[in-house]
Amino acid sequence: MTPRTAVDTAAGVRSGSLRAADVLEEHLARVASREAEIHAFNLVTQDAARARAADIDRRVAAGEDLGPLAGVTIALKDNLCTRGVPTTCSSRILEGWKPPYDASVVERLAAAGAVFVGKTNLDEFAMGSSTENSAFGPTRNPLDTSRVPGGSSGGSAAAVAADFATVAIGSDTGGSIRQPAALCGVVGVKPTYGAVSRYGLIAFASSLDQIGPFTHTVEDAALLMEVISGHDARDSTSIPQPAMQLRQELGKGVEGLRIGRITDLPAGADPGIMARLDAAFAALEAQGASIVDVQVPAFTYGLTAYYLVAPAEASSNLARYDGVRFGMRVEAPDTNAMYSATRAAGFGDEVKRRIMIGTYALSAGYFDAYYGKALKIRRLIANDFAAAYAKADVLLTPTSPTVAFELGSKGDNPLAMYLCDTYTIPTNLVGHPAMSVPFGTAELGLPAGVQIMAPTLGEPVMFRVAAALEEAAK
Ligand code: GLN
Repeated sequence: MTPRTAVDTAAGVRSGSLRAADVLEEHLARVASREAEIHAFNLVTQDAARARAADIDRRVAAGEDLGPLAGVTIALKDNLCTRGVPTTCSSRILEGWKPPYDASVVERLAAAGAVFVGKTNLDEFAMGSSTENSAFGPTRNPLDTSRVPGGSSGGSAAAVAADFATVAIGSDTGGSIRQPAALCGVVGVKPTYGAVSRYGLIAFASSLDQIGPFTHTVEDAALLMEVISGHDARDSTSIPQPAMQLRQELGKGVEGLRIGRITDLPAGADPGIMARLDAAFAALEAQGASIVDVQVPAFTYGLTAYYLVAPAEASSNLARYDGVRFGMRVEAPDTNAMYSATRAAGFGDEVKRRIMIGTYALSAGYFDAYYGKALKIRRLIANDFAAAYAKADVLLTPTSPTVAFELGSKGDNPLAMYLCDTYTIPTNLVGHPAMSVPFGTAELGLPAGVQIMAPTLGEPVMFRVAAALEEAAK
């Protein structure tokens, strides 16, 4: 059965034909039957959710309008601050910490009538592409539980794919919304940098991080974007513009649009994945778009630049976990020893690796050779994209080079894991929006995602193309 969408849920709850409490119980029943196997959540907040759903039903009965997400169940990645509710980043170092405030996105979703069902698992501090780097154990892909859901927002993607919640929220620094969306067969959006407030998102790499939705449909993704986007004075990088209006774009079709094919795209995607990309171009052409060849020569250096810029920023952002201010503390004879003991015990291997790489890349003797050079690549990528967008309205690539892979299959090889991000990282480096739309199946009959990229604030045209692809996939 196709899961009920957010649009239909809210319409039903607002009109009184559907009870928020019943919607919630359907989701909680699925959680009860499959969560032990999947482990999408670090915490299921069923008591708070039940109280909230009951309150919504009471207020609807009293004639109140609860808003565009009335009664919609939402799973939140566990790096989003929720007041009084543990927020762990799937790290031991934050165990027991309860944020004193809600992230702006959480506030906005609540004001729109949402019901939060829990906090989802992630790679520790969002560093990874499989959710295997969680300190609390991996999440499994609901479509094949021997396989990963992708990462780092693997718990959010799995929660939607398993219909534990109608929609979910994740964060994307180098692909962490789009890649798990592709591997789990759902829609995932990385908005333009600054379009959605990062206030209350625990920082990984501040110049790259963005919050975005996971949904079953493009329309639900547009609705979520309308609720969470728009200026927020509490995030200094927030774009001073009102919330986006995207649902109005969905019916416009792609007639006359120029869809860019990157001819010098880095190789390495599986044949089945490339076949789906070709099918996506053909489908859009059949609907009246034209396909144009473009080049983005610096695209291929994105991965290298990212794995210097992101760790550099992380090494600075994660300096705050010192055993004094948040979560865990390991006692030791003096303060420096306490810092070391806390960080040694609190962080996992991947986080430590990033902190060391980042610290090295920023150190006085190596800054020019590593961090400085990465910033130059970042500029080259931006220049190349600007030239490409002079010829094309959007660009299409695979989201992930492969379908969902088996747990443990990338083992101890961090570089193999980093290659998962080849196609998603360049947009983060330049701040552009991108989204993954499920487009049939590839190897082993597992879902394939097509990535649609657009220039800064190009969400309207990006969603038009997404709606056309979704229609074609039917
Ligand atoms: N997989 C990438 C990394 O490990 C991206 C993660 C993310 O977007 N948060 O850094």
